[in-house]
Amino acid sequence: MNKKQRRWRNRIIVAIALFFAIMLAEKLGAWNALFGRYATYGEFALYLVPYLIAGHDVLKKAWRNIRHGEAFDEAFLMTVATFGAFATILFPQTEPQLAEGCAVMLFYQVGELFQSYAVGKSRKSIADMMDIAPEFATIERGGELVEVDPDEVPVGSVIVIKPGERVPLDGVVTDGASQLDTAALTGESVPRHVEPGTSVISGCINMTDVLRVRTTKPYGESTVSRILELVENASEKKAKTENFITRFARVYTPAVVFAALILAIFPPLLGMGPWSDWLLRGLTFLVVSCPCALVISVPLSFFGGIGGASKLGILVKGSNYLELLAKVDTVVFDKTGTLTSGTFNVVAVHPQEGVDPSCLLSYAAHAEALSNHPIATSIKQAYAGDLDQTRVRDVHEESGHGVTATVDGHTVLVGNDKLMAEHDAASRDCDLTGTILHVAIDGRYAGHIVIADVVKDDAEQTIRDLHAAGVQKCVMLTGDRRDVAEAVGQRLGLDEVHAQLLPQDKVAEVERLLALEQNGAKLAFVGDGINDAPVLMRADVGIAMGAMGSDAAIEAADVVLMDDKPSNIARAMRVARKTMRIVWQNIVFALGVKILILVLAALGLASMWLAVFGDVGVAMIAILNAMRAMRA
Ligand code: ADP
Ligand code: MG
Repeated sequence: MNKKQRRWRNRIIVAIALFFAIMLAEKLGAWNALFGRYATYGEFALYLVPYLIAGHDVLKKAWRNIRHGEAFDEAFLMTVATFGAFATILFPQTEPQLAEGCAVMLFYQVGELFQSYAVGKSRKSIADMMDIAPEFATIERGGELVEVDPDEVPVGSVIVIKPGERVPLDGVVTDGASQLDTAALTGESVPRHVEPGTSVISGCINMTDVLRVRTTKPYGESTVSRILELVENASEKKAKTENFITRFARVYTPAVVFAALILAIFPPLLGMGPWSDWLLRGLTFLVVSCPCALVISVPLSFFGGIGGASKLGILVKGSNYLELLAKVDTVVFDKTGTLTSGTFNVVAVHPQEGVDPSCLLSYAAHAEALSNHPIATSIKQAYAGDLDQTRVRDVHEESGHGVTATVDGHTVLVGNDKLMAEHDAASRDCDLTGTILHVAIDGRYAGHIVIADVVKDDAEQTIRDLHAAGVQKCVMLTGDRRDVAEAVGQRLGLDEVHAQLLPQDKVAEVERLLALEQNGAKLAFVGDGINDAPVLMRADVGIAMGAMGSDAAIEAADVVLMDDKPSNIARAMRVARKTMRIVWQNIVFALGVKILILVLAALGLASMWLAVFGDVGVAMIAILNAMRAMRA
């Protein structure tokens, strides 16, 4: 609680204590004894004290809003309702509603305070969780360590990160080996081992040893900045349900106020009973009409869902995506880097007659020097020698095909048979199962490298979990060879596998699957973001894997999984469905109770006390329920 909330709380406690003291004294007959004939007026004066202590700001706000022509807000409703209740002392034949009037204001304030606390708390929890912004970066300057603003560190500088400090910028370790705590980013509690050559992302905490890191990105483009930006913008993308509730509240409140007016005026005019009786029914209407249970709890549930998901390392870019995710019945996966680890092992090198195997590998590695594709990374890793980038020119990467480059003045092609066919280079088939990397030098076929990717540990479980969660179809799309695709598909229990696709074929395939969706069911595409940005955008929900590093993924996706783990997809869906359940529970519960009390009030069966419950009690229960969404 902040200072303002504490003062607010104290004020309410004092008012409530006074209120109960006055009520107790009333029950014991003290006021009758003291004020005699004027007991009612005496009580009214007394009740005004806690009423004003707790509610003076509400009155002020109502007055301010009326002057600005904004009636129908909660402050206005409460003011009219309480004034009306107090007005009962003008009708000697009715029971005066003084305690009730006072209570309406007191409990309204209790509800408001609770609301402000809940909203503050959930906002703080996301901020806490996202407490990943580094305060400084340490650089070496003239043999001394100086702390500077991470914003001021140029790309390519070497920064020093001591144990216990946060990694301020993305980079590659040049010196030292340590354990990194990535929990704030990925929800993963097992520390990650890093050593020279490993890339590190900002936001993690260095745990055991001093690290020296060569930065690869300026602060503004580092993982931390991107994530913070993403979380800050998440509340702007509202779910349909959220917008609906806002629109609904705008109609509902004036409608109930209008109904209250009719209820208070027409029946007594028609001689159906005393004015005071119908006035009271109308007032009860006003108290119940307060829409805050919905207006606060629905966005709070979504906010909680987004917060709960980010605790697991799942970043959802807006409540609308949470809503869509809950309706997903088809999940389409990219293979490489998504279901498989994306680190390929070289299984075999098959050079043509007269070609030296290590020479083949060297040409391939150099041609791939500038590519970020998982295949390129793996080939560079497999090639033990030094990579001399100055030997490489005219690099051209063709999505779904491979790369062409000039290495030492020779034109080198590295890629699949499509690439070879495109450049009229003959290629030889291979009977091994695996991804085949053909290499042609100066238009002549030089042989191929067979590489194999491993299926991720949790991939099989993910498909099972998704099916169990009611996902009808799990589909894999890949640009890789059919035999590799089929082997993976079989092993994981996928429903459909489509191989040898170019990026544009993947879009077409997703479009075909989208057209098959029925009854508002949605399709999610999961990719690693490398050359599948168009598909990520086309799907109802684009989920990017392993955002650790891939900028395109964070950019194009709607949901970003910080970890490389596909099992987080099932988890994200569970969070989404839980959030939607909570949202609908709140909507049904709040409206149900309110309508019930409205009907009872119209029939003269609801007391003001019940109306207070219908307003504050319902709001509190709905808010408590909404906060469950935060617990992942
Ligand atoms: P996936 O659909 O499995 O993610 P991609 O669409 O990224 O695969 O690539 C499809 C195929 O294109 C790969 O299996 C490979 O044969 C070829 N390819 C793509 N990029 C490269 C590259 N940088 N080097 C060599 N081959 C590549
Ligand atoms: Mg891919």
